[in-house]
Amino acid sequence: MVVKFYGTRGSVPVCDANFQKFGGNTTCISLYNKETDNMFIIDAGTGIRNLGHDMMANPNRQKIIGIGFTHFHWDHIQGFPFFLPAYRKDTIVNINSVGDTSEKELKSILQGQMQSEYFPIPMTKMGSRFKFTNLGTEYMNVNGIRVKMIKQNHPGTSYGVRIELNGNSLVICTDVEHVNEISKDFIDFCKDADLLVHDAQYTDEELELHSGWGHSSYNQALEVAERSNAKMLVMTHHDPDHDDDFLRKQEKVCQERFKFCELAREGSKYDLDDF
Ligand SMILES: [Zn+2]
Ligand SMILES: [Zn+2]
Repeated sequence: MVVKFYGTRGSVPVCDANFQKFGGNTTCISLYNKETDNMFIIDAGTGIRNLGHDMMANPNRQKIIGIGFTHFHWDHIQGFPFFLPAYRKDTIVNINSVGDTSEKELKSILQGQMQSEYFPIPMTKMGSRFKFTNLGTEYMNVNGIRVKMIKQNHPGTSYGVRIELNGNSLVICTDVEHVNEISKDFIDFCKDADLLVHDAQYTDEELELHSGWGHSSYNQALEVAERSNAKMLVMTHHDPDHDDDFLRKQEKVCQERFKFCELAREGSKYDLDDF
């Protein structure tokens, strides 16, 4: 499976020149299953716009597309109206929620951000067929891939996801705030991940000033990687006020503590077969 970051920024997209190395688009991660030639998408932040363009450029493009949402804050849904494949009549878009969000709520959240006060084209006029599904939280089998979720502490709730395929494991935990300490349940969920993708929006000092905002610090992400025995840690959901210089310096400091870690860069890819 190949994991590609189409959006690494948290909270709001940024377009300033000195933010382009790590990227200005908000959360969107594609998971490409090489065996089935099938792509699954996690979150529809503004990064999904470029992903849609990449999909449309493929002459054998995928006509049945799955999107899963960790939660529905703006930075995880606002790219959806700009996702070109959803405007094609020959395409089916399966939209998945997890945990407590019902299928009816899921539909209303996504249609809501496209009602005429906010956007010119209603979701029902986009063109493709939409299917809405709630995946629950327990281990499930999706096309031979084992998937599990964990409920995270985040305003309005978010979910982390663990994906296992061919003995490889990927854990994505963005938009998570660890209150007081990192729980054993959370560490168990991340246990022995080949690739751990974790929220790291703040420095320790910034975290103190943003208690209740729903995010983690670099040091917390490193602690999760260490305690859960992750092979590789990629930190994401970069604060919109952290420019490339700042993030590069943070990355160096983090690598002194945990060698196999990087800060996510827009466009970067990780092949789980390499782990
Ligand atoms: Zn977010
Ligand atoms: Zn959020």
